[in-house]
Amino acid sequence: MRTTVDTFVSEYMTAIEDRNERIRAFNQMASHELRSPIGTLLFAAAALERADVRADPARNEKITTTIKTNAQRLSWLVQNLQRVTRLSSPLDVPNEQNVEVASIANEVARQLQEMASSRQVRMVVANDLPELCVDPARLELALMNLVANGIKYSDPSKADSFVEITPGPSDAPEGRCTFCVRDNGLGIAEPDRVAIFERFFRAHAHLDAQLGVTGSGLGLAITADCIQAMGGTIECESTVGAGSCFLISLPLNPPQARNGSPAAPKP
Ligand code: ADP
Repeated sequence: MRTTVDTFVSEYMTAIEDRNERIRAFNQMASHELRSPIGTLLFAAAALERADVRADPARNEKITTTIKTNAQRLSWLVQNLQRVTRLSSPLDVPNEQNVEVASIANEVARQLQEMASSRQVRMVVANDLPELCVDPARLELALMNLVANGIKYSDPSKADSFVEITPGPSDAPEGRCTFCVRDNGLGIAEPDRVAIFERFFRAHAHLDAQLGVTGSGLGLAITADCIQAMGGTIECESTVGAGSCFLISLPLNPPQARNGSPAAPKP
């Protein structure tokens, strides 16, 4: 009897610790993700203070769109924060839909346009990217972090800096697709390449002031979580001085739901 009670209490405690850990991880992710749209909004507000920008209707419109998009992004994050108080693991509720990677990538490029122009980085989205059934919010979050990093860690000494989203190698196993986020930026030294997916690890922190960037070292950990939750994998190839390539492999259809029944794709 005593053993049964002890076992019950021990399992109960493990379940509570597990739940607390998930909530902690989600809160960490949320505060990191709140910072990025807030930074963009502050940047947009500073741009609107400039007389030359105010006098240019086209730029005004672009900045207004950026403000709206980032306010929407904040609203999405706040909704998720509200859900965390009701659910133990809000990001475990997938919302799978048929999506074209190109349309999500173009939306990401649109949202990061201001940041890319300010750092003279070209963004290129190939039009032959795959179509698959995934949670678009997770895919967008992953691409957002990868493209933003490509811009942040671009090489200021290069005349033509770019970040491109292209199809991966054509030998993807059946039922899967691949695509890459590639840049010709600073690159990542070999020993750091595995560590960059760990929370809080930052390989270029010593260059922050010189590059004019900041970071928390959570973006790639969140990206890897999102990709893993979609049943995918992410790998990084990089050469210092030449650039980096993040290769994503995802199933064309969602993995089986936790209860064993396949998740029904939405039309
Ligand atoms: P951060 O908030 O520092 O950008 P991330 O988790 O997004 O954190 O990335 C971890 C580290 O990996 C970065 O600090 C940077 O050193 C390195 N890194 C990520 N993406 C790139 C890239 N495209 N080019 C060069 N370094 C990168």
